[in-house]
Amino acid sequence: MAYDVVVIGSGPGGYVCAIKAAQLGLKVAVVEKRATYGGTCLNVGCIPSKALLHASEMFHHAAHGMDSLGVEIPAPKLNLEKMMAHKDATVKSNVDGVAFLFKKNKIDGLIGTGKIVAAGKVSVTAEDGSTQELETKNIVIATGSDVAGIPGVNVDIDEKVIVSSTGAIALDKVPQNLVVVGGGVIGLELGSVWMRLGAKVTVVEYLDNILGGMDGEVSKQFQRMLAKQGMTFNLGAKVTGVEKSGAGAKVTFEPVKGGEAQTIEADVVLISTGRKPYTTGLGLEDAGVALDNRGRVEIDGHYKTNVDGIYAIGDVVKGPMLAHKAEDEGVALAEVLAGQHGHVNYDVIPGVVYTQPEVASVGKTEEELKAAGVAYKVGKFPFTANGRARAMQVTDGFVKILADKETDRVLGGHIVGFGAGEMIHEIAVLMEFGGSSEDLGRTCHAHPTMSEAVKEAALATFFKPLHM
Ligand code: FAD
Repeated sequence: MAYDVVVIGSGPGGYVCAIKAAQLGLKVAVVEKRATYGGTCLNVGCIPSKALLHASEMFHHAAHGMDSLGVEIPAPKLNLEKMMAHKDATVKSNVDGVAFLFKKNKIDGLIGTGKIVAAGKVSVTAEDGSTQELETKNIVIATGSDVAGIPGVNVDIDEKVIVSSTGAIALDKVPQNLVVVGGGVIGLELGSVWMRLGAKVTVVEYLDNILGGMDGEVSKQFQRMLAKQGMTFNLGAKVTGVEKSGAGAKVTFEPVKGGEAQTIEADVVLISTGRKPYTTGLGLEDAGVALDNRGRVEIDGHYKTNVDGIYAIGDVVKGPMLAHKAEDEGVALAEVLAGQHGHVNYDVIPGVVYTQPEVASVGKTEEELKAAGVAYKVGKFPFTANGRARAMQVTDGFVKILADKETDRVLGGHIVGFGAGEMIHEIAVLMEFGGSSEDLGRTCHAHPTMSEAVKEAALATFFKPLHM
């Protein structure tokens, strides 16, 4: 059987590319080495972490957050096993959903390790060692990413005491002390989960701020909020050692600017220092596929590698390591392969941190605009002045809109607050259409909604907010 497209990897990049290509009439196979489809995101990433974030938030609310609303309940009891079962069931329904969509779209799904033999040829080795070879016009590399570890430090991740995110979503008891190495999105989300369930969480981060790359003002305020919730931060701290000690582990770090080293003990250490592109065993060297200096598969503007007929998308190529970026690349590439004009607007890719409150951002940060020498104006509005936020007792945070000083075109939006991850999309849509802050500020927003703060921030950008 000859295919139009063989996709290697069934994460959000690979499975979405396969579905779109099949919808466009191409004959498609997907090769996945995990037992289930859906990649990192559905199996051990986005989906299980969000199931735990939601469940732990409910627990935290029941324990701390309802008296003032007149809802008095006895202290809740944690059933971690049941919470993990909820997470596992959520994963199962999502990965089963991908298998269903493959069937519905007549996509051949093959469980096994894919290797590129040459352009047009992919071998698939099943777990029992049996191998088959697929012939195809096009190959899509969508093999994702893997845990990066700590540069220069030898860390033995056993997924029990020293864990990556994969171990951190499957702990069988709440650690008393959790040290999180790396104050990025994954570390702060999973740190929040365990903090809400009772762990004392200490974050050790190399940079002077958490969420590197995020708008500076947003990152500072967010850190203050997490600190108020009980998270401890050691910023500007370089980890020099992580090793097992008794039943737990110890983490040694020293100030990046120089100074005395410190060692802290923990029951569990989460290594969340980033992810690296995953290309092991794919046969790229033999197939002559070039990588860039960071180990990512090199592609042109249409996702083609240097070898004709071989393409790549998702975490394994440049750009933010986000599921929706991988998905949009999957769609664009499928369109290219079907002879259409697929395109992704990399200026409008939202990023969300699913903590409480959430942090969401799209477009440029103030720091980026300053560095690029763009003249801009800022409009801000705090949730303390939003009626719905007061009614719900979620007044922490603000909306910030950045617009071009001359044209008023919106260049970036940043939100810290309850529901930020949903609200960010109206700014994204506006930016996609090249809208101005005046467009946003003059759009009627339902009352009372948190989204009115977005409108008010827009009003503040080009004139004045009404409720402040
Ligand atoms: P992946 O999802 O990594 O899928 C690649 C697949 O390829 C894997 O299943 C792998 O087994 C398979 N594979 C690799 N090599 C081979 C081979 N040789 N043969 C066959 N199969 C192979 N992103 C968000 O946007 N939102 C979030 O909330 C979010 N939360 C996250 C939470 C955690 C804990 C983690 C770890 C990540 C999170 N991410 C999130 C990032 C997101 O998971 C990735 O950006 C996304 O999964 C990338 O998709 P992908 O298709 O490129 O690769």
